[in-house]
Amino acid sequence: MALSLDLAGETKRALVPSRAAQPEKPSLIGLTRAEMAEALTASGIVPERQAKMRVQQLWHWLYVRGVSDFGQMFNISKDLRAALARAFTVARPEIGEEQISGDGTRKWLFRFPARGAGRPVEIETVYIPEEGRGTLCISSQVGCTLTCSFCHTGTQKLVRNLTAEEILSQLLAARDRLGDFPDRDTPDGAIVPSEGRKVSNIVMMGMGEPLYNFEAVKKALLIASDGDGLSLSKRRITLSTSGVVPEIARTGEEIGVMLAISLHATNDDLRDLLVPINRKYPLKELMAACRAYPGLSNARRITFEYVMLKDVNDSLDDARALVALLKGIPAKINLIPFNPWPGTNYQCSDWETIERFADYINNAGYASPIRTPRGRDILAACGQLKSESERLKKHERLALEAMMIAGHGEA
Ligand code: SAH
Ligand code: SF4
Repeated sequence: MALSLDLAGETKRALVPSRAAQPEKPSLIGLTRAEMAEALTASGIVPERQAKMRVQQLWHWLYVRGVSDFGQMFNISKDLRAALARAFTVARPEIGEEQISGDGTRKWLFRFPARGAGRPVEIETVYIPEEGRGTLCISSQVGCTLTCSFCHTGTQKLVRNLTAEEILSQLLAARDRLGDFPDRDTPDGAIVPSEGRKVSNIVMMGMGEPLYNFEAVKKALLIASDGDGLSLSKRRITLSTSGVVPEIARTGEEIGVMLAISLHATNDDLRDLLVPINRKYPLKELMAACRAYPGLSNARRITFEYVMLKDVNDSLDDARALVALLKGIPAKINLIPFNPWPGTNYQCSDWETIERFADYINNAGYASPIRTPRGRDILAACGQLKSESERLKKHERLALEAMMIAGHGEA
């Protein structure tokens, strides 16, 4: 993933029993209602007149109850359950590895079998818990076609786009592991309300450029926010893009989630180097698309991500230029301490430089671009953890925390 966290050796590793899906069967996860109805009737298992009702039942089992086995769908007859299980799967990906940091951060390696979309893939998904909420960082592609010069993912070729099933399953599997779905005997009325959930927010900030996999991302996010299913508020879902301008309006109109822009530079010369897609869609076009983003208001702001690179984009002049560039756009600024990786030529800005930059931005009226004082307390606490306590390195913790802020829609 972009914010690659090498937790190895600093975390508890748990090998999780595998419940691998049958590769040859199509999955019902990630289909729209119409697609699911079509799949059920085309299989000959469900008559057309029953399709709508069956989809409704399955939708509830899959997305409200979080069931991953047809055998548990008790209001569906045994014979029908068996027939469905012969034709389809609703299984989770295999969990290759689960790492749990001392501060509760979790990283999973999910393995998806080959299912139509080509070769099997492995994906990392990260969960960051916080007081009263938790953010899941989801991937949209394996690798990336773009080559942002400070991003580790940018050095890896695109392996393939993830399917809607694979994108959505990162959320389902994380909720399984966190105990976020109701127990089998919980009555329907007692199902966890969205406020009490472990995964309260999601950010499309893992591996890949989500707007280069628009249809699959759209399907997965519409299912994640569907009111009769997973019911995650669109205000709590943030899609981050490097600036695929032609897809930005559609993101607002067709998906309706919060938008984050990986800005990182305030002039075309520098942004061409850091985020090369800028050569295709320069700042002027990007800013125009942001100003026109559907539903924008002071309560629904765009988050501008800005990675702090030592002596590259971290001067007070840069801070001034940033404030000038965003003038008139309802915006939040998210300063991300650079997370170094082996082979990179960049360094993270000094902490004092980040604070000076943040202060300038705060004074210009942008709230808490890095951690709030409460967050700093947590950071301090994290820094105080002792030897066996699997703490993250400081820069990793900062990068994670900055990323979480980006994912915090209001409610
Ligand atoms: N491709 C999308 C979403 C994934 S990257 C995008 O570029 O927006 C999520 C965020 O992490 C982006 O803002 C990206 O610029 C940032 N990022 C990538 N590598 C990073 C690194 N090494 N340190 C800090 N932030 C990084
Ligand atoms: Fe990394 Fe750039 Fe791809 Fe985002 S668009 S994942 S920052 S290479």
